[in-house]
Amino acid sequence: MAHLRFKALDQLATRPKINVELPSAKISDFFGESVFTIEEMRATLAPAVFKKVSQAIRNGEKIDEVTADAVASAAKSWAITKGATHFTHWFQPLTGGTAEKHDSFFDGTSGIEKFKGSELVQQEPDASSFPSGGIRSTFEARGYTAWDPSSPMFLYGKTLCIPTIFVSYTGETLDTKASLLKAIKVVDKAATKVAQLFDREITKVTASLGIEQEYFLVDEALYMARPDLVMAGRSVFGHAPARGQQLEDHYFGSIPARAYDFMKEFEVEAWKLGIPLRTRHNEVAPSQFEVAPMFEEVNVANDHNQLLMDVMGRVAEKHNLRVLFHEKPFAGVNGSGKHNNWSLITDTGVNLFAPSSSARDNLMFLTFFVTTVKAVHEHADLLRASIATAANDFRLGANEAPPAIMSTFLGSQMSAVLDELESKGNVKIEKGDNMYMKLGIDHIPEIILDNTDRNRTSPFAFTGNKFEFRAVGSSDNCATAMTALNVIVADQLEKLHEEVSQDIEKGTEKRLAIVNVLRRYIKESKTIRFEGDGYSDEWVKEAAKRGLSNHKNMPAAVKAYLTKKSIELFERHGIYNHKEVEARQEIKLESYIKRVQIESRVMGDLAINHIIPTAIAYQSKLIDNANGLKGLGIDNKAVVKTIQEISGHIETIKTNVHNMIEERKRINKMTDAHEKATAYCEDVKEKYFEIIREAVDDLELLVNDEDWPLVKYRELLFLR
Ligand code: ADP
Ligand code: MG
Repeated sequence: MAHLRFKALDQLATRPKINVELPSAKISDFFGESVFTIEEMRATLAPAVFKKVSQAIRNGEKIDEVTADAVASAAKSWAITKGATHFTHWFQPLTGGTAEKHDSFFDGTSGIEKFKGSELVQQEPDASSFPSGGIRSTFEARGYTAWDPSSPMFLYGKTLCIPTIFVSYTGETLDTKASLLKAIKVVDKAATKVAQLFDREITKVTASLGIEQEYFLVDEALYMARPDLVMAGRSVFGHAPARGQQLEDHYFGSIPARAYDFMKEFEVEAWKLGIPLRTRHNEVAPSQFEVAPMFEEVNVANDHNQLLMDVMGRVAEKHNLRVLFHEKPFAGVNGSGKHNNWSLITDTGVNLFAPSSSARDNLMFLTFFVTTVKAVHEHADLLRASIATAANDFRLGANEAPPAIMSTFLGSQMSAVLDELESKGNVKIEKGDNMYMKLGIDHIPEIILDNTDRNRTSPFAFTGNKFEFRAVGSSDNCATAMTALNVIVADQLEKLHEEVSQDIEKGTEKRLAIVNVLRRYIKESKTIRFEGDGYSDEWVKEAAKRGLSNHKNMPAAVKAYLTKKSIELFERHGIYNHKEVEARQEIKLESYIKRVQIESRVMGDLAINHIIPTAIAYQSKLIDNANGLKGLGIDNKAVVKTIQEISGHIETIKTNVHNMIEERKRINKMTDAHEKATAYCEDVKEKYFEIIREAVDDLELLVNDEDWPLVKYRELLFLR
């Protein structure tokens, strides 16, 4: 296969430059042109109908048949004018990614284009091949998709896409969106109730999300010459290049020309789709980049991220590139994450996580701030579970990614504020006193925004006016993590409201009642706060001392979903019922098992069919050489030593691949998904992957470069 590697490298050298022109100098000229926006609805619907729709969107209500018919008709006209021929319900099954089934507008019977309200509202894709974790028996493949009016329809290619949820015939959710929508409602309700303790004008709180997406770019030909990248999304072998990221010259450096052209084009496509992209830059590792939009309401932000990943994949192909969203495509350099910047914003325009110069608003800010920290403390295991995937296991706890231990980073200023509030809590507040001043919370310095230390090692950091959940994996659908986060915060806010109300009933002044609860929360949640280096070994020891969990792998982490505490939490808020939680775990575990299985197979195949033959061939050359030297009476120790080393590595690879396959055979007979996943993790991945890889990577350094079959890291990583 070595010739494939060199052919790929030849192709790389002769790639033509692809020029990208903006459709117009001003982005606003074409931003959102492929979206059936609320303004578009206003312009095309009768005022009474529009009122109904926009109200339903705002309050998350059902839309009646007549209204749906009107919307469908308007959407169809809009889409057809723009060249659409088909429509589809666009949904996000539990496999990850997005799914769609296209139907044409053209109605053969009547000979005209049609789109009924009922088709907009509901569709029945054949759901039998989507995973349901045993909820839906295959013969009763009656899952259906239902319109989510809160996320706008958009035109993708020639298809009108309708964002939808995916549920089983019996009402259980089969996707990631339905539960997210529920969580958003729950947090709105709880947060509004608490915010009203401070301001009765507030009637709605919106959770917002800004997703920073990291990714790698690889040339298409090189990618194709690496079966592991094609099949597993990551390289299972590859010796570290002489130069990795140690020069730290890539981060924020000038963007390589090919990557830049690619970015420009996918940004245009994204802007047309109403995705408000703002930032692009190089990331830390060579060939690693990041893109980030302006934040939006959580559900829309997540739909946009899912769509963006799709757009990026398609545009990359036009540029002879491949985007790697995998969390750890290359060993030894940084992995990729998807930082979830999250906040709560009121309909009066106040960001509840932004400190302000008004003392009253500051108490409100502190209430939300402290309650969030407390929620993370209460449900750290659930948060950890919400981001657990096979691929994220390679990243979390590696030396550049957040550890698998959940903790919060608050920054020195906010830590000081909390410490002070805790210690000053006992001050007596007399009539006429300025309570805010006495508690030291009258003024939280404005500079805080610029001053939040950039602690990159924390999985959950306060960054001045928002929390940043950094442990989410780059390929993941953020809905799962966002469902967990919004629900745990909602739950804690509800508890706070109850506790404060009880105290007020007893005659305590409202603000004092709030401060009392906050003081208790600060005390109770202390162990989750960590300001130091999350990558260090000391933190692992310290966290253990504090009693924090450290679930290093997915099978161990996801158990948190099945605890009584979590199930009660989800049931209490109507997010998932018991059956749904179990089904979801089953699906996650099955997907984990399959992934490790695929990687293990790819590894075995590459090692046995590509690496060993190459090593043997090279070794034979060396043997000939050694024999020749012997004939001349020269005893070349170095050559003999290399021959022996190669033999050693071949032996290691053969034995371990064999044993790994035997283990797989044993494990495949297991029926319990959790036991099986754990066995795949411990007895396949952890036991064999490293040993086999080390032997192969050592061989890479011994075997003649010209004979080596796999594209090397230095070739993959330094895209020009
Ligand atoms: P940084 O680079 O410091 O992490 P940025 O200001 O570049 O922060 O923002 C990163 C992401 O956070 C962007 O997507 C941005 O829109 C988002 N963001 C900013 N403010 C908020 C907020 N209040 N709520 C949610 N996301 C936010
Ligand atoms: Mg950030």
